[in-house]
Amino acid sequence: DSSASFQNLKHKNPHKRSPQKAKNPEHLRNLLSQRHALPIFPARARLLEEFKKHQTVIVIGETGSGKTTQIPQYIHEERLDRKGGICITQPRRVAAISIAKRVAEEMDTNLGGLVGYSVRFEEAVCPATKVKYVTDGMLLREAISDPLLSKYSWILLDEAHERTINTDVLFGIVKDAQKTRRSTPGQDPLRLLIMSATMDVDHFQPGRQHPIEMFYAKKQQEDYVMATMTTVFQIHREAPPRHDILLFLTGQEEIDSVTANLRQIAKDGSLAECPRLRVLPMYAALPAHQQLDVFRPTAEGERKVIVSTNIAETSITIPGIRFVIDCGRAKVRTYHPGSGFDALKVRKISQAQAWQRTGRAGREASGNCYRAYTRAEFDAMDVNPTPEILRSNLSSVMLQLLAMGIKNVVTFDFIDKPSAEHLEAAMVQLTFLGAVVIKSDCLELTEAGRKMAQFPLEPRYAKVILSGPEHGCTDEVLSIISMLSSESIFVNPAGKKEQAAIARRKFTSVEGDHITLLKVFRAFKAAKKNKMWCHENFLNFRNLMYATEVRKQLVQVCERCGVALTSCQQKTDSVRRCLATGLFTSVAELQLDGKYLTLDTKQEAALHPTSALFGGKPAYVLFTELVLTGKAYMHLNSIVDPQWLHDIAPEYFRKKHVKR
Ligand code: ADP
Ligand code: MG
Repeated sequence: DSSASFQNLKHKNPHKRSPQKAKNPEHLRNLLSQRHALPIFPARARLLEEFKKHQTVIVIGETGSGKTTQIPQYIHEERLDRKGGICITQPRRVAAISIAKRVAEEMDTNLGGLVGYSVRFEEAVCPATKVKYVTDGMLLREAISDPLLSKYSWILLDEAHERTINTDVLFGIVKDAQKTRRSTPGQDPLRLLIMSATMDVDHFQPGRQHPIEMFYAKKQQEDYVMATMTTVFQIHREAPPRHDILLFLTGQEEIDSVTANLRQIAKDGSLAECPRLRVLPMYAALPAHQQLDVFRPTAEGERKVIVSTNIAETSITIPGIRFVIDCGRAKVRTYHPGSGFDALKVRKISQAQAWQRTGRAGREASGNCYRAYTRAEFDAMDVNPTPEILRSNLSSVMLQLLAMGIKNVVTFDFIDKPSAEHLEAAMVQLTFLGAVVIKSDCLELTEAGRKMAQFPLEPRYAKVILSGPEHGCTDEVLSIISMLSSESIFVNPAGKKEQAAIARRKFTSVEGDHITLLKVFRAFKAAKKNKMWCHENFLNFRNLMYATEVRKQLVQVCERCGVALTSCQQKTDSVRRCLATGLFTSVAELQLDGKYLTLDTKQEAALHPTSALFGGKPAYVLFTELVLTGKAYMHLNSIVDPQWLHDIAPEYFRKKHVKR
């Protein structure tokens, strides 16, 4: 049972209602009338009838109509979950957590009891949990140890229109499980609901959707971030209080900086007559309690501005939004098999996504949508987004399919089959990592590959951990990888950037960012995980605690897989060497002209200004991630020795002409 490796962080007695949390009956009545007012409510009986009649049902309804929160409750109320629970998948952890919380409230029970959630590194469930919200990635992991998904009677694949890799793959797996359970005597049938938002533009029905006035940029914007910020204040000067604004931007860094800037500008005297401005960021890596902040209703005389990634497009619904500002872009992971290049790229969104964003403005009353791009730019956008499976590195998925015993990944029942090139590239990567071998034209999982599949990590990170004992530094790489799993350990408050940089200097390692992270983690432990200490050192306490929790769970997986927990103490070069065993395809070489070229794809890439190595010129650097924001930047870098590279993957580096 793979989920057993994850600790129950909030293990609560489901039947005991904590006295201090006793809800007032009026609040409950209020919630109930809200439920009854949802567009899905009149369809309740009809839906249940269809669910009883068919083993697979597709439910399509506009965002906010009540699919995710209500359908599991309908099934439970009808006691159709007596024999097995209901599992609802979400592409994003924030959605799984916030929706579980909402549903627990509506059902008047404690979160982690009858209603729970399970996302990577964090869960709130107990044996009595019947309604469980999970990320699609978590259910996929569960399927590794239990391909028949025997715990569940109902699998609800939600947000299917998003076409994430995990949901796509789950679709094939659940169909398989359904078939097997049907033909196995004594097995309960497995019921499958596919739930999707309407992506059809014509579906903006009047009645449910209030009119939205559209505004386009008059000319193409050079700086879309600036353009959207200006728009926020134009609106803020004129709109009445509690007419909230939802601003779509691309990624965490951008959102943090815009949030800080908006807060700063809001203090300006010329805005004294305007409502108070409450600016809140929203992205997947944000700690859960901060994510929940955006759902808090806006107070009298106040205006909320939510600065969000595409997370607020369909999977969560924020009340009170009257204005949407759309930058027209999103950060997406793309992979080019020919070049082996996997990167987070800021890309233009599709028209379907643009309409989804627009729709957020007209949920409760008429609204306005400001597009920071011209009408012509809109017309030039793709009509629909490309499914993730067609643009990603498939090595994780392939490893998991193999671990589930699906031998021929090439003939797997994908909704959209990835190209032969993509599949080939994933195969090559897994071969290099030693996870698979090719035997008589078939992929076979190695012992190492089997262990790698146990880690809730990308195969290359799992490989690093498995190499730990050999290099005597499991302890250290576990700390580093846990920190990489959490985001932004460092805090950069606007106006205090210099102080933050000075405070950070004592952790900076000449070996690079990974050892810097290690030093932070060690210092954090030495400081007894003290909050004040974090504050003084411009470190994010919560994210460090999260990393600590992740680490604990990775240690458990190590114990199960028999990976010895060795430590190298101060011999940190072995740590870098160990990192290279998994990340060796992410190395760049210094050129005569002082620029770096990646070895894998010969792409020009620069050290990011926040890197510990910035300003230096080491001959070979290993990077964790390549981010394209105009220019390609290497994030989180370490110095590596070319001799190590030859020792790790001789064939690969001979081909790349790396001199020892
Ligand atoms: P769908 O899945 O069809 O998009 P949901 O079931 O997620 O719809 O949401 C139904 C309604 O529940 C939303 O319109 C919203 O008003 C309300 N809702 C959902 N989550 C919350 C929350 N955390 N706080 C307040 N209201 C919420
Ligand atoms: Mg939903």
